[in-house]
Amino acid sequence: QKVPVTLAQHSYEVLIGSDLISRAGAWIAPLLRQKRVVVITDDAVSALHLPRLLASFEETAIQTDVISVVGGEESKSLTTYGEVMTRLLSLGIERGTTIVALGGGVVGDLAGFVAATALRGLPFIQIPTTLLAQVDSSVGGKTGINSPSGKNLIGAFHQPVIVLADNSALATLPRRQRVAGYAEIVKSGLIADPDLFAWCENNGGNVLDGDPTALAEAVRRACAFKAAVVAADEKEQAKQNGRALLNLGHTFGHAIEAELGYDGRILHGEAVSIGIHLAMALSVKLGHAPAEDLARLDRHLRSLEMPTSFDWFEESFSSQTLLDHMTRDKKMQNGRISFVLLHGIGKAFTSRDVPMETVRNLLINEGCRP
Ligand code: NAD
Ligand code: ZN
Repeated sequence: QKVPVTLAQHSYEVLIGSDLISRAGAWIAPLLRQKRVVVITDDAVSALHLPRLLASFEETAIQTDVISVVGGEESKSLTTYGEVMTRLLSLGIERGTTIVALGGGVVGDLAGFVAATALRGLPFIQIPTTLLAQVDSSVGGKTGINSPSGKNLIGAFHQPVIVLADNSALATLPRRQRVAGYAEIVKSGLIADPDLFAWCENNGGNVLDGDPTALAEAVRRACAFKAAVVAADEKEQAKQNGRALLNLGHTFGHAIEAELGYDGRILHGEAVSIGIHLAMALSVKLGHAPAEDLARLDRHLRSLEMPTSFDWFEESFSSQTLLDHMTRDKKMQNGRISFVLLHGIGKAFTSRDVPMETVRNLLINEGCRP
């Protein structure tokens, strides 16, 4: 299956299917400027999926080097970026050498940023291996790394030449990682795709169990959704109904992640799960959305044991600290936070008129300390 991503300059396709990694050479070879690639991956993914990829590159006579980093968010750092870049340049690469990212969102963001900046920009291919990366981070061209001042503050837009989303790669993914990716799919449905939300209600359990047919369909639907949003607003400049809506649940989610740290205690998608619940609860509180839609969302998330309240966490949270994290988030403008709210399932909009006292009361109602 193919999902086109149609952009003003660099349009490309997301290929979705099983065993794409074993056939990657044949898909990629016609797109290369020079029959030479450097694969950037992480240690866990390279142990599981790199041999198939290398075999397929060998079959198609693509000259290949590999740079592997330690798995996990810590690798989206200036230090790792510097190491990868130094190693890459020492390989004597040229402007036509293509960077291939094989891994989850961490590898995709890091490798994409390396590709965007090495020799002022190298062609780049994404082979996402987590559900989150297949439905979200590999599509859209945002690349970057973290800084001590916050997540994703150093980055560039750099679109891939092609994305190969191999559903078979998800078989080795721990269930918890699948749940985290799934939260972004539910989010997509909530934003503007009520059919996708209804599909999730009927098929979410199969997706989390790793059923290949359900996974392929989920990836196709969520990619098509993200591709449409990105095509309409490539660089996040539209004021309404653009890419900013993809941040639904993320203002809350990022605050929770920032509070707990990025050491794997909580996954991004778990924070997004409670984040979308809070965004809907806030929308109901402000009179924008009907209470039935909040109940319907919670029913779905809880049926899959996904977080919908602060009780899900072992830690206790202070509402003040969470509010502080939110106001430090980069989406602030003129001292006002932009929230993505809902008129109901499938109807997101942005608002800068949310009183912080309302947010504070909501957090306290939901189980935070004052
Ligand atoms: P990740 O890349 O850290 O992968 C999660 C873990 O799973 C890692 O330990 C990895 O080694 C392992 N793994 C990956 N593929 C596997 C497989 N097939 N089998 C077994 N283990 C596997 O995390 P992620 O959730 O994929 O990505 C999170 C990152 O994505 C964050 O840094 C976030 O900021 C970024 N992100 C970027 C965008 C974007 O638009 N660029 C969007 C959303 C998220
Ligand atoms: Zn996200």
